[in-house]
Amino acid sequence: MKPVCEMKPGCPRVASGPDASMSLNRREVLVTGAALLASALLPLTGRAEEPAGANSRERLLDIHVHLFGIGEGGTGCRMAKSITNGLQFRALVFTLGLRKPGTTLDAAYEKVLASQLASSGLSRAAIVAQDAVYDSSGKPNWQRTSFYVPNDYLFNVVKRHSEIMIACPSINPDRADAVDEVARCHELGARLFKIHPPTQGVNVADPKHRKFFQKCADLGIVVLVHTGHEHSAPVIDKLLASPARLEAVLDQGCTVVACHAGTGWPTDSPDQLPEFVSLLKRYPKLWGDTAVLGTPGRVRDFGRLLEDPLAKSRLLHGSDFPFPAAPQAYAATIGDETAKQLNLEANSLKKDLALKEALGIGRASAARGFELILNGKT
Ligand SMILES: [Zn+2]
Repeated sequence: MKPVCEMKPGCPRVASGPDASMSLNRREVLVTGAALLASALLPLTGRAEEPAGANSRERLLDIHVHLFGIGEGGTGCRMAKSITNGLQFRALVFTLGLRKPGTTLDAAYEKVLASQLASSGLSRAAIVAQDAVYDSSGKPNWQRTSFYVPNDYLFNVVKRHSEIMIACPSINPDRADAVDEVARCHELGARLFKIHPPTQGVNVADPKHRKFFQKCADLGIVVLVHTGHEHSAPVIDKLLASPARLEAVLDQGCTVVACHAGTGWPTDSPDQLPEFVSLLKRYPKLWGDTAVLGTPGRVRDFGRLLEDPLAKSRLLHGSDFPFPAAPQAYAATIGDETAKQLNLEANSLKKDLALKEALGIGRASAARGFELILNGKT
């Protein structure tokens, strides 16, 4: 049986290097598979928003929502065959209903994302692009780029939904024009941007990037960096995801969000979470996000973060949409009945926030993210 990874197209099978040999145990496979199946059986659109309640004035941000596409309709997006041929990609296309007559897959994704976000109860979501891999001269290396979502396409999408979306472009510091690109994105209104070291093959701790991060600090733009183990796309080097490397970025004065807070599956090695927790003590401008932490493989590490008062106080809400949370994986903590109820929620964004709320972190971390990114309170 082909392992089903945590809610992302591609799965561990496409990983190169040491990650390629990793596999899930049977229980994890079954639980994750059940989550995908349950999601696939639920309609994801058309659910009416709940009446406004006492919390409706809360300002809540989901800091980690992906924009994806395969390039249909001239969006400029790219996705490798190793991903589009994968079971998870096909399951998501089916679940989200992205193959509809008269529309492109890229446009259908934008529509579903906007529709779910509008009825999620969130005030805003940061929509994330994905930069390419670059060679030593700073030119894109398309051979090594597994998926790509251009910043210009991101800005166009966000402009069409500016009441609910903010732009989180992606800038690989290895690109020749990295300093100009961060200035351009800032000029276009971006308050944050993302780097994905293990899939983009970039070492953020390389001293050659100091100037770039000084520019980020000068602009006051928040730097999101993927940390922890990646199970979704081909990994160039898993050690590039080490939270310890963020020290070089923090030392330039940047506010940094460690996406996934250095977490992994129990089968992953090395354990990168302690590096994240240790850095928190020394750097008040370091935060983590809870993206993908609602999935079965991350139950142990999410628990470790929530048990640590400092870590808990520095987590910002992120869903990692379109990859759905699996409330049943948390039944031991939140109870069977709650897990079952949460699993009935058809809106992925809403379900993820509700699960994290049940775990004692949801709305508070979403309000914290809103304050940090939209009100500049660090
Ligand atoms: Zn993500």
